[in-house]
Amino acid sequence: MSRPKTPVDWQAQIYQKHSRWIAGHQPHMAVGDGWADVLARLFDRIADALAGEPVPTQVAIIDIKEKYAELRFDIIAPVGPDTQAAIDHAILLAEMRSECTCDECGREGRLRSTLGSSGWLAVKCDLHRSGYPRLVAKGPPRRRVRDRRGDYDVVYERESDAVKLTPVDHGDSR
Ligand SMILES: [Zn+2]
Repeated sequence: MSRPKTPVDWQAQIYQKHSRWIAGHQPHMAVGDGWADVLARLFDRIADALAGEPVPTQVAIIDIKEKYAELRFDIIAPVGPDTQAAIDHAILLAEMRSECTCDECGREGRLRSTLGSSGWLAVKCDLHRSGYPRLVAKGPPRRRVRDRRGDYDVVYERESDAVKLTPVDHGDSR
């Protein structure tokens, strides 16, 4: 199997492209090569968000890793609320995209696990599912988010790389 890029290549390319707005440390991205495009899209979106700040602003990237087969991305950004919301949304999109992107090749994948009581989770496509026989996730990535206006069901659409939000009506709440 040929591997066109080493991890260092795609990570270095992203950091090089975005070095202007990254303050200090550029942490190693502890994720599979298949998520290179997920990270590239995320950094592009953060750059767009920061462009809305009145003055050039740098952010500190704390940690980029895979945890429970999902991207985790922690940054500290001294920005206004609109920019913060845009960055938060960019991170949400990237996290949800990681949930349906094969961590080896970047094609559409699904959450799978190894057999056994302490199964390892990973997102794999049909081609790379070997070793992960158990299908964990059915359907598109979804989660529930809360903001000051209430709760929302969020469903990720891989094709458009966007989410659909539906307000949750708590009929039984106060
Ligand atoms: Zn794959």
